[in-house]
Amino acid sequence: MCGIIGYVGKNDATNVLIKGLHRLEYRGYDSAGIALITQNDIFLRKVAGRVNELAQTIEVSVPQSNVGIAHTRWATHGVPNDVNAHPHTDCKNRFAVVHNGIIENYRTLKKFLEEKNHKFISDTDSEVIPHLIEEFYNGDMMAAVKKSCSYLEGTYGLVIISLDCPDRIIVARMGSPLVIGKGKDEYIAASDLAAIISHTDQVIYLKDGEIAEVEKDHVKIDRRDVGLITPEIEHVTLTLEQIERGGYDHFMLKEICEQPVILRDTIRGRLNYDDGIARLNGIADYTERLRDADRIIIVACGTSWHAALIGEYMIESLAGIPVEVEYGSEFRYRKPVLNKRTVCIVVSQSGETADTLAALREAKRHGVSVLGICNVVGSTIARETDAGIYIHAGPEIGVASTKAFLAQIMTFALLSLLLGRLRRLSIDEGRIIIEAIKRIPDELSDLLECLPQQIKEIAMTFKDHKNFLYLGRGYNFPVALEGALKLKEISYIHAEGYPAAEMKHGPIALIDKDMPVVVIAIKDAIYDKVLSNIEEIRARYGIVIAVCSEGDTDLKKYVDHAICVPYTIDPLYPLLTVLPLQLLAYYIADFKGLDVDKPRNLAKSVTVE
Ligand code: GLU
Repeated sequence: MCGIIGYVGKNDATNVLIKGLHRLEYRGYDSAGIALITQNDIFLRKVAGRVNELAQTIEVSVPQSNVGIAHTRWATHGVPNDVNAHPHTDCKNRFAVVHNGIIENYRTLKKFLEEKNHKFISDTDSEVIPHLIEEFYNGDMMAAVKKSCSYLEGTYGLVIISLDCPDRIIVARMGSPLVIGKGKDEYIAASDLAAIISHTDQVIYLKDGEIAEVEKDHVKIDRRDVGLITPEIEHVTLTLEQIERGGYDHFMLKEICEQPVILRDTIRGRLNYDDGIARLNGIADYTERLRDADRIIIVACGTSWHAALIGEYMIESLAGIPVEVEYGSEFRYRKPVLNKRTVCIVVSQSGETADTLAALREAKRHGVSVLGICNVVGSTIARETDAGIYIHAGPEIGVASTKAFLAQIMTFALLSLLLGRLRRLSIDEGRIIIEAIKRIPDELSDLLECLPQQIKEIAMTFKDHKNFLYLGRGYNFPVALEGALKLKEISYIHAEGYPAAEMKHGPIALIDKDMPVVVIAIKDAIYDKVLSNIEEIRARYGIVIAVCSEGDTDLKKYVDHAICVPYTIDPLYPLLTVLPLQLLAYYIADFKGLDVDKPRNLAKSVTVE
């Protein structure tokens, strides 16, 4: 997820583009770049770092231009550096392209283009696009872009300029957002309204499969399989603040609601149904080492540590490899026993978590192979690990992690499927898992339609309670921990997460008529045991809020509130059961009037030990 923008019109392009990039910077900010049409060539500047650094770099040298494109990057392929920053160009610098999305088949396309003598300079997937256009350009820019797009698999939002058509920008979309704003003698195309709204409220939402040729006073749209269509101009009334958060009150809620889309990105191009297996190119060279490992140690902190616990359960049950989960802060100081057949996996959203980084270095000092599961491409952990898997969750702004947690769990599901198939699962077993994985994004979307109203009511009822208990078993025990952590983090209510059966060894003493207990009681392999735990709470007059399986009418009779989630296979339940807990924490904090996105005493990426 990054921010792209293009301008064609009567005004100074640089000014519009840089201001627009600032507005889009929340979408990604590891590097930035600009390309402008000038008299004889394309002026190109790209830098690792923030938009401000780009602005400073071009301050004195930028030529006057009325047509250009710019990009603020959130790397998916290739570390954030000057060369990998967008725009990317063809061999002769006649075409420049900014891209948002992932080109899944870029390796194949790169090979095809290299055989035709195209020279690549970056590690990005995006660079294939200008070279494809160069390859297919025959005097007709629209035709070249159309043909190039027909070769692309994956997602893209594109804005393109060409020296041969210096008075226009070409815009194309498949799966990544793109809006075109219509001003007076000018058009601005951008990833979202944030970059457009200060210029105009007249917009065209480009749809998947559409390519637009935009001049300062004219726009022509071609739709795949249909041909030219009449652009539909809409009027927008949102404020800038609302737009950056996508109309949501907080980034946390926006990120919760993005989860179906994020999970589609996490699994994109990584499932092979025919062989019933997952494909994880980032760790391809280490797959055998993992398969043959004596022991896998997963190291993480906070929410990532909860995802790691779910990963432990998944890897052990699907692949049968012993797994231990460690806190980063403990691992480095407690002389862990490591050998050459141990593989370490470190998990961190930011890729900068100091304790996890220290653990990574400690493991490497012992000669252990260390793999990473990170969100931020090119982060320190991503660079220092031997290999890794990116979770593709996009920038997470809310301090309380939500979408990264789901993407981490999904990544562990892919990894467990891969290792399971290499060790003991049949193709058919693999396919059952793949089918269940593919259903999850839609199931989450459906839940996001129906849950908020119910959970708002529960949140309103319990927002002033001082303590909460969260219980779950099996795969849902770490979900209970995560639910309690979310509540603590943003609502400052004391909450404890426990394996449900452990309640009787202590926490049961806390239960009275004022104690809300959130119990994950879905119909999995240990459902009956959880029912007994619910009875124990009821016998002490505790209040039960249950997350249960759709259609479980019996349970509904025994509990005070029942929140239903659809059926899935046991290892994937956490992806569904955590959603109500995220929403519950969110609405309680919001009803208490707290600063949900910036809770007290916390920071997004914990870079201190
Ligand atoms: N895949 C492209 C890159 O890594 C674009 C990234 C994005 O859209 O976030 O440069």
